[in-house]
Amino acid sequence: MSAKNFKKVHLMENPHARPEKTSHFTARILFSLLLLLLCLLITGYTGETVQAAGKSSRGKTVKITISAAGDCTLGVDTRYNNAFNDCYKAKGPTYFLKKVKPVFSKDDITVTNLEGPLTSSWQRVPAQFTFKGPERHASILTKGSVEVVNIANNHTMDYGKSGFEDTKKTLKKNKISYYGYDAIAYKKVKGVKVAFLGFNQLNGVTQKQVKDSINKAKKAKAKIIIVSFHWGVERTYEPTSLQTSMGRYAIQCGASLVLGHHPHVLQGIEKYKGRYIVYSLGNFCYGGHTNPADKDTMIFQQTFCIKNGKLKKDDSRAKVIPCSISSSSQYNNFQPTVLSGGRKRTLINKINRISKGKHVTIKSNGQLGTGHF
Ligand SMILES: [Zn+2]
Repeated sequence: MSAKNFKKVHLMENPHARPEKTSHFTARILFSLLLLLLCLLITGYTGETVQAAGKSSRGKTVKITISAAGDCTLGVDTRYNNAFNDCYKAKGPTYFLKKVKPVFSKDDITVTNLEGPLTSSWQRVPAQFTFKGPERHASILTKGSVEVVNIANNHTMDYGKSGFEDTKKTLKKNKISYYGYDAIAYKKVKGVKVAFLGFNQLNGVTQKQVKDSINKAKKAKAKIIIVSFHWGVERTYEPTSLQTSMGRYAIQCGASLVLGHHPHVLQGIEKYKGRYIVYSLGNFCYGGHTNPADKDTMIFQQTFCIKNGKLKKDDSRAKVIPCSISSSSQYNNFQPTVLSGGRKRTLINKINRISKGKHVTIKSNGQLGTGHF
């Protein structure tokens, strides 16, 4: 109940409101004192609620929380094993993201990289590793509260053009937005337009392409612009100079957040001009390997503030949620899990180590430290 309504109710029920002059005067003083006390009590006990109501009544600050996670390969390369597909058959779609869903279902948008097509095509391209999952595996994403996926990566064409088209059709059917190459995904949350742009830098991407796409999103009146790059060297913890220059360039052009994928392991986070570059989110729900040596991963979560229709510049409300790609440390059971206790601390230390010199400090609770860089 608001303080205003409380007052109204109290006024109507005031038992001291008598017609006699003296008692009326005393009653008024008593009533005023009582009101003051009530106001103090309400403000004291529900300070937060009153503040929140004040903010929303101005209607000018909107908060949007976006969670980003790493590679989701929702299938297998049948030449090596069928483990992920067997797991789906045995446990069903909700099993895979069950342990991270409490995080994903509370945000406004969850985005991951879909590394590999969802198709029944048999037109495998000649390559050492080619992944695919049946169309029904899209339900892993919907059941896990993932709304947006990047499809600009080096496995998206593993089953040629038909596999790629099947994937897009399947995602559409499951109401999962996708982005990458020419496709920009737009999501409207709380009246704010968010744009997602994806580039596969392994095929070569020019600065002009990045700039043009970001300008397109700006023209479409997107207030938050998320840019994904598929880049870097596999199993390396340091970004290349090309990653750094391209990531920073995207921010110079107007990206609100840069997300990196491909190295299969985590890379550091950089704060640049008040924005973040997450160089590599590593694997996440990853059917491509039954027991990778490094199972560390994370969910990067940022809350963006839109004030008077504009994205606030120095917004440091971001956090890292340390995870493992598997709830078993012995092998990959394809069930990403939020870490706690000692393992959480160890992983935060590691992310701090690989983020050294990048103007980011992660506190023990996962929050990114504030600072002006
Ligand atoms: Zn890749």
